[in-house]
Amino acid sequence: MTFRRFVATLQEVEKASSRLAMVRLLAEAFRELPAEEVPLAVNLLQGRVAPEFEGLEFGVAEKEAAKALALALGRDEGEVVQEVKQKGDIGAVARERLPEQEGGLGLKHVYDELRAIAEDSGPGSQARKRERLARLLKAASPAEGAIILRIVTGRLRLGVGDATVLEALALAFLGDRAKKPLLERAYNLTSDLAHVAWLVMQGEEALRAVRLEVGKPVRMMLAERLPGPEQIMEKLGPHYAEHKYDGERVQVHYDGRRFWVYSRRLENITHQYPDLLQALAEVQSRPFIIEAEAVVTDPLTGEMRPFQNVLNRKVKHLTEELLEKYPIKGFVFEILFEDGEPLIELPYTQRRERLEKWFKPHERLALSVKRYVEDVRQLTEFFDESIEAGCEGLVCKKPDGVYEAGKRGFKWVKYKRGIAGKLSDTLDLVIVGAWLGRGKRAGSYGSLLAATYNPDEDRFETITKIGSGFSDEDLGRVLPQRLGPYRREERHPRVWSLLEPDVWFEPAQVVEVEAQEITLSPNHTCAFGVVKEGRGLALRFPRFVRYRDDKSPEEATSSAEVVEMYKNQWPS
Ligand code: AMP
Repeated sequence: MTFRRFVATLQEVEKASSRLAMVRLLAEAFRELPAEEVPLAVNLLQGRVAPEFEGLEFGVAEKEAAKALALALGRDEGEVVQEVKQKGDIGAVARERLPEQEGGLGLKHVYDELRAIAEDSGPGSQARKRERLARLLKAASPAEGAIILRIVTGRLRLGVGDATVLEALALAFLGDRAKKPLLERAYNLTSDLAHVAWLVMQGEEALRAVRLEVGKPVRMMLAERLPGPEQIMEKLGPHYAEHKYDGERVQVHYDGRRFWVYSRRLENITHQYPDLLQALAEVQSRPFIIEAEAVVTDPLTGEMRPFQNVLNRKVKHLTEELLEKYPIKGFVFEILFEDGEPLIELPYTQRRERLEKWFKPHERLALSVKRYVEDVRQLTEFFDESIEAGCEGLVCKKPDGVYEAGKRGFKWVKYKRGIAGKLSDTLDLVIVGAWLGRGKRAGSYGSLLAATYNPDEDRFETITKIGSGFSDEDLGRVLPQRLGPYRREERHPRVWSLLEPDVWFEPAQVVEVEAQEITLSPNHTCAFGVVKEGRGLALRFPRFVRYRDDKSPEEATSSAEVVEMYKNQWPS
């Protein structure tokens, strides 16, 4: 197919008024394509030359692309770079500036050139990429050039989702959109749309025969939520519950020589876990695919640290120092493939048995803690234990549940704190400080510092910053008017705060606040050290509800009441 015809399809897809119209346009184009070009077109549609998990990026910044355009046009680099900057859209500049011509570009040629650009790396690659791109642009019509530039700079964004492509492939090659589930299954197992395109052209049998492959990420199974333990017992019956660890979910593949680690979004994150892979390599020698939660532990005590710690390892060059400061422990909870045999269609109990046999102890590895629970009491007991152990709660697993790749269903149900999504009670809090607003909120307050009252110490202890729930009127006029008279340069002596707001207030104004959850926090002083040493309590997702002028500051919610609320948000 000519690239021109492909580009015309993309333009129509962009204008399409419904998803169904998109599906039809794409299916028509797929049918017109020679078979070997269908997978290429599927990749290009997504602005790529390989599936995302391969991590093959173009490595062409907008400025570089603008320089290539200048080269193709024979114009001054600086001028074109400036023009692109002003327009903010490199595609639009290409459309305006490239000369109209009967471009003879073939889709395969464009794909091959783009792939070569992506694969080029190392010294001098920047210049080579630029020259190759310029040659391509020189042969392109304005519309073609615009699409090429949008692809290499990562700005294609047609709004065509995976599901739409699968549906179009089903319509094009199986004659029926409703056959999409067959394709979906193949996609969930391989995460590779172009591969699915290649299979669907060979017929339904080829799709049915797809198996997972070591090295290709399996789209992850996800957990549903239910309001509470009663509903979970009702839905699952007696089942296995596992501790829910709060780290990063990783899918680790090993083919006997090489490791791959994939994130929940199926990005290749192998380089982020050398220590985890080292541990696995020490105890395993046969191919496998497993899933684990990678949790940062305290280097001294071995205790689990909260999820945020994992983010400290997300740097380009992971140094020895970072590996020592943020050591990882992998809590393994799934095995999807072992030594040549895919296991995902086995029920949970059998997979877990295989996992337990497969597992070999190592200080950096553990099996997820599990327990068979038969009623609400056992479930909530195990839940409390999981929280005590530093976990987020439980993942409850249906004994006969297969591993449903790419699906969120009731075969796994998560059981977390604040499961109902909101605290049942609101809190009455005292405003003790504020940060000045920026942007739309300039001249007013951006957020307020709010506190509970501790009658034993006769002091106000901070619990949250509030920034949402206020109307424009509140922000522009009401709040400054109400709080202005209480403004002070220094912290009020009855206020205990670890945070340093821009302005302080005498504790006077009480406001009602709703929130989703109460959490432990090192930054707030409410009931500091009561639940846990070195931690106070804080609100998650707080929202202003109304002013409570009927309440004096001493009548605000007390810190002790918040401790009770904190405890009660966990089912007992
Ligand atoms: P959520 O992210 O809240 O939807 O909860 C599901 C996530 O919990 C999974 O994607 C895993 O990353 C994580 N998780 C932690 N422990 C387990 C476990 N034992 N089994 C399954 N998932 C777990």
